[in-house]
Amino acid sequence: MNKHTKRILRVAIVMLVLLISTVMMLQLTDKNNAETKYDHLPWYLTLVTKTRSVPKTYIPQLCKLANGEQIDRRIYPELQEMFDDARANGLDLQAAHCYRTKQQQADILKTRIHEIMKQGYTEEQATAEAQLTVALPDHSEHQLGLAIDIQKKGKTNADQLYAWLENNAYRYGFILRYPKNKTEETGFQYERWHYRYVGTDAAQVIQEEQLTLEEYLQIYE
Ligand SMILES: [Zn+2]
Repeated sequence: MNKHTKRILRVAIVMLVLLISTVMMLQLTDKNNAETKYDHLPWYLTLVTKTRSVPKTYIPQLCKLANGEQIDRRIYPELQEMFDDARANGLDLQAAHCYRTKQQQADILKTRIHEIMKQGYTEEQATAEAQLTVALPDHSEHQLGLAIDIQKKGKTNADQLYAWLENNAYRYGFILRYPKNKTEETGFQYERWHYRYVGTDAAQVIQEEQLTLEEYLQIYE
């Protein structure tokens, strides 16, 4: 190898190292932007997860249901339509838990931790266990007024009800938010009762491609 070739080789190596570090830095910036990445989305696609809190600017427009529960009034017509159609199919149901305040969420978590501690676990163990099923304050979709825990009523068979919802809720803009085998993506165990409004366009894609809301936003937004 003559002097000239060595020099070219050295320059090439330096450039390669520079290129690699630039790519790595870009990836890092992308990761740091993940928190603010979805701020442009419409209200009905607001993402709340274990690591993303309810945006400070988010204000639910609440209305009261006949049973005293509150939801965002913008999703009321589609919720009503879904319930009407479920009933027309012989399935009686109720919106058991809807909107929650931050304080109510904190109380639910505290109660759950105490329940688990009574079974002989330490506070640390109980807290970890509780957080698999109960969100931290400001990290619950219920604070958006866009999430509904649906339960059966009367003689309706719960399995039949949840099967109907799983197959039909998307038509009204609702998705099963914490599906089976998606715990890694959502951070939550399977909750067959928890439905989330995302609008009919997103719901249809999520249904067809069997995505979580996280995955949908990652791919399409
Ligand atoms: Zn829920």
